[in-house]
Amino acid sequence: MSTAHLTIDLNALADNWRALDAKTSVETAAVVKADGYGLGADRAAKALTRAGARKFFVAAAEEGIAVRDAVGPGPVVSVFSGHMEGDAALLRDYDLTPMINSVDQMLRHVEQLPHHSFGIQLDSGMNRLGIEPAEWTALRDIALRQMPTLIMSHLACADDPDHPMNQQQLQTFKDMTADISVPLSLAATGGLLLGPDYHFDLCRPGVGLYGGEPYDEAKAVVTLDLPVIQVRDLEVGETVGYSNMWQAKRPSRIATVAAGYADGLIRAIGSGIEVYADDTPCPVVGRVSMDLITVDVTDLDTVPNSLQMLNRLQTVDDLAEAADTIGYEILTSLGGRYKRSYLG
Ligand SMILES: *Cc1c(COP(=O)(O)O)cnc(C)c1O
Repeated sequence: MSTAHLTIDLNALADNWRALDAKTSVETAAVVKADGYGLGADRAAKALTRAGARKFFVAAAEEGIAVRDAVGPGPVVSVFSGHMEGDAALLRDYDLTPMINSVDQMLRHVEQLPHHSFGIQLDSGMNRLGIEPAEWTALRDIALRQMPTLIMSHLACADDPDHPMNQQQLQTFKDMTADISVPLSLAATGGLLLGPDYHFDLCRPGVGLYGGEPYDEAKAVVTLDLPVIQVRDLEVGETVGYSNMWQAKRPSRIATVAAGYADGLIRAIGSGIEVYADDTPCPVVGRVSMDLITVDVTDLDTVPNSLQMLNRLQTVDDLAEAADTIGYEILTSLGGRYKRSYLG
């Protein structure tokens, strides 16, 4: 076997959902957009349904198809991007609930799918999606008469608990929803961890379920095993890989493993990460190339058939830090070439 193996622990995923749910006294949904943060929306949604999740969020109506097929009728599947032109048949056939983001979307929805459930997304300051405060003032009474099932907004800086933006958006959201009896939702993973002021009626974590920051108590959901293709011995002064980026300072043993930036191990990861032989870290040396990574295994007594890149000792956030990005990007980049298997 020369392809790397991604193992997705659905029990850990379910445990992370339960642990986050236990931090609130309100309902906890699950965000499964971008194919379940790259791990498989169908398998993730099924496992989370078994754990007790009854509400799911995706980014686009098309993503709702796999989730509806996985969870069956009953659970609420909502769409952050709202009701886009051409979405009506999908929203109806798969019973998806669009989060209406604008007056245009509201008009489209009422005209094309009257009596079909919808929610409303408000912009409380992030300036990305949602109805802005001034628009909302004009639209509010008309919108509420159409009986939305949820009113939500999204925090821009919730991964930084001390950021003043959190308080500011909280206040704006409260002002925009004063005297409204529709269920409310403001918190994703970061907001859930900010505490009960941010929970309202529904929390909607995503990344924390999949083992990523800012939920640092998360169980590891992904492990990635890379087969060792070749091992060679180097003399002092020999170099490894493109641009001679690494040079042996001692007699060294280098293993070449099968995975590279085409598999989502982005080239910017560079140095500063390890792969693991059981619990023994072995430094990655030289440049990450398209299909291959080189590893200094000099200190191992025997080189195993495969080395582990992601596990409880090295998470997507560790790789993200080395690449100057965020765990979300590493997760959603994990490549289609991996052989995938699911535990649980
Ligand atoms: C992605 C997203 C979430 C989930 O965010 P996490 O940080 O992954 O928990 C929740 N709400 C909205 C609107 C989102 O776009």
